[in-house]
Amino acid sequence: MSEGRYIIPEPTNEIQLSYAPGSRERDELKKEIKKARSVEVEISSVINGKHVQTGDLKRIEPPHDIKHTLGYYHQAKKDHVMLAVDAAISAKEQWLNMPWEERAAIFLKAADLIAGPYRWKMNVSTMLGQSKNPFQAEIDAACEMIDFFRFNIKFMERIFEIQPRSVRGIWNRTDWRPLEGFVFALTPFNFTSIAGNLPTAPAMLGNTVVWKPSKSQVYSARVIMEVLQQAGLPDGVINLVYAPGPDVTDVVLNHEEFGGIHFTGSTTVFQSIWNIIGNNISKYKSYPRIVGETGGKDFVIVHQSAEPKEVATALARGAFEYQGQKCSAASRAYIPSCLWDEIRQMLEADLNSFKMGGVEDFSNFINAVIDEKSFDKLGRVIDKAKEDKDVDIIMGGGYNKTAGYFIEPTVILTKDPEYYTMKEELFGPILTVYIYPEEKYQNALKICDKTSPYALTGAVFARDKQAIELAHKHLRYAAGNFYINDKPTGAVVSQQPFGGARGSGTNDKAGSMINLLRWLSPRSLKENFNPPTDYRYPFLEED
Ligand code: NAD
Repeated sequence: MSEGRYIIPEPTNEIQLSYAPGSRERDELKKEIKKARSVEVEISSVINGKHVQTGDLKRIEPPHDIKHTLGYYHQAKKDHVMLAVDAAISAKEQWLNMPWEERAAIFLKAADLIAGPYRWKMNVSTMLGQSKNPFQAEIDAACEMIDFFRFNIKFMERIFEIQPRSVRGIWNRTDWRPLEGFVFALTPFNFTSIAGNLPTAPAMLGNTVVWKPSKSQVYSARVIMEVLQQAGLPDGVINLVYAPGPDVTDVVLNHEEFGGIHFTGSTTVFQSIWNIIGNNISKYKSYPRIVGETGGKDFVIVHQSAEPKEVATALARGAFEYQGQKCSAASRAYIPSCLWDEIRQMLEADLNSFKMGGVEDFSNFINAVIDEKSFDKLGRVIDKAKEDKDVDIIMGGGYNKTAGYFIEPTVILTKDPEYYTMKEELFGPILTVYIYPEEKYQNALKICDKTSPYALTGAVFARDKQAIELAHKHLRYAAGNFYINDKPTGAVVSQQPFGGARGSGTNDKAGSMINLLRWLSPRSLKENFNPPTDYRYPFLEED
């Protein structure tokens, strides 16, 4: 027992290491890659702090080197999900009664472990398991995850400071309670940091969690769990289950103690989950919190006053880094005809200079897409574009899965602004460009706003301030994260709180106070120091 009004250390964003030739981090990373490639790991669910093996082994391979085996994971079944739910419910009371600063210390320690001794393991598991180059792994698995932990803890402190006013004789307070029941974290493959954030954000506030990661992120999920256990997370607070999605939702979403879902993934899966929750609503003790960040069809719109080189670089990075598998990746561009030739040449020069291959060779800017299903789907999009008369593939267009799931960075030029690749999320290295007459900028803004059901990220490039103002006006609801003269990817925790609306999610801004508030159920307390002793009010008295 200790008392005091403790103050969480002021966080700053974790500094990205460069991995440049000659640097210590480059050596360390290479050593860790060698080590990871020389063993086969066996990965099991972690329920109530115990490793649970089922014997139903599934192989894990690097998407860029599919003949290599990284290891196997034990696929869990519905019974294990039930055990995970029970563990979360049993651990709840002790966890919520732990002083908040002790809970905070666990996540601050986890951040320090990733910043220090676990950095290489965290990054390498992401590089090999999800095919990210060293820079992409560093900004995600190390820096963003560290930032999530450190800033969320600080936001928790600030939330607890939000208290109502009191008047003489009365003390009003807010008790920031975690939700009743347990929280379900359902996480995507493409960001290790999101997989780390979704279970931990509710947990640090006193909730207990059942966490199901993507089957394509199992390899780095195990490292996150190892870090949390090393940092002192009590058994049962976060229960990690590697079961198929529908088996997990079947158990979790039918349970009366289901208190909320923290989801990131595709729009279709989120909508199907919302439907199940809606149909089950009378089964639950409380109305579950539904927080979901989903797909995007992120745009870059260019005004004739823009600087062509800045646009070309933003497209080269924004559309193709991590093979376009960022929810924020630029996937449609609107370019004025007067700038197109110049931008096209610069973009083509960039794409021709990209090297594509495995993550182990640090000179590769482009690696593989996540799996065969995604590879086949993207291949079909390219094949269709080769046949459709309104579109031309002007860069890339090749694909090959002999060694790994490689898709060339591809640019489709369309005459039809409603062509389906301007609307639908493809989640790969394919950018569609529409050229508009430069005098029709306002019309292009209107088309951009209406074309796609999503509203996640977007960017405008212009030097003319009036043009930027017009973009603000027409595109206010077209993106939850809007960039001016910058690529639409690369949001940083605490700087650009992340999330979109319309088809892109509930816009609860991951890595911000707004998100944390969803995992709390405030209780208002009023304490009266002078309770009345007579029911009569003065107006009742005779004149
Ligand atoms: P996904 O929807 O396929 O999977 C997300 C999670 O849901 C995984 O754990 C998966 O196993 C599970 N799942 C899949 N089908 C299920 C089902 N029928 N029932 C229950 N669970 C099921 O998404 P993904 O491919 O892992 O990730 C890519 C998607 O995530 C893209 O659409 C991308 O835009 C989106 N994303 C959004 C953000 C954001 O902040 N808006 C961030 C990252 C990724």
